[in-house]
Amino acid sequence: MISTNTKDLLAMPIQEFIISSEKVAHVQMGNSAEHALLVLTRTGYSSIPVLDLKYRLQGLLSMKMITESILGLEHIEYEKLAEIKVDTIMDQDIAVLNLTDTFQKALDLVINHAFLCIVDEEGTFAGILTRRVILKQLKKYIYQKE
Ligand code: AMP
Repeated sequence: MISTNTKDLLAMPIQEFIISSEKVAHVQMGNSAEHALLVLTRTGYSSIPVLDLKYRLQGLLSMKMITESILGLEHIEYEKLAEIKVDTIMDQDIAVLNLTDTFQKALDLVINHAFLCIVDEEGTFAGILTRRVILKQLKKYIYQKE
C-alpha cells in the first residue's frame, strides 16, 4: 500500500529537479569524435547529449562509443578521431522524458539509466535529470518521515 505522502512525491512534476540545458555539457551533430573526447575528458562525465543546430536531442555519446569506433584489429587508430562524426557513433535509443512527466516515471527509468534527458513540448532539449538528484529527493523524503 502506498501512503498519501508518497503518492504526493511520486506525482510531482520533474520540472523543478532538472539540471537546465545551459548547464549541461553537450556536443553537436557534425562535431568530430576528437572534439567529443575532449569534452568528455575535461568534464569527467561518462556520457553527454548530442544536439542538432535547433537544440533538439538526437542521441547520447559516451567514451566507450568513441573508443569502439577507433578499435582496429591490432591497435587503436587514434588518427581516425578527427574524421569520425559523433552522429555516426552515438546511441539513438535513449530514455527521454517530458517536462510535465512525474517523479514516478523518472524513478522507474533511473533504475537503468544514470541520467534521463528531458525535452519540452516542442521536442527541444530542456535539460537532464540525474539519478543523484532523484536519490537526494528520496533521501530527504525518507528522513522527513522519521
Ligand atoms: P552525476 O549525478 O553528477 O554523477 O552525473 C551522472 C551522469 O549524468 C554523468 O556521468 C553525466 O553523464 C551526466 N551529467 C551530469 N551532469 C551533467 C552536466 N552538467 N552536463 C552533462 N552531463 C551531465
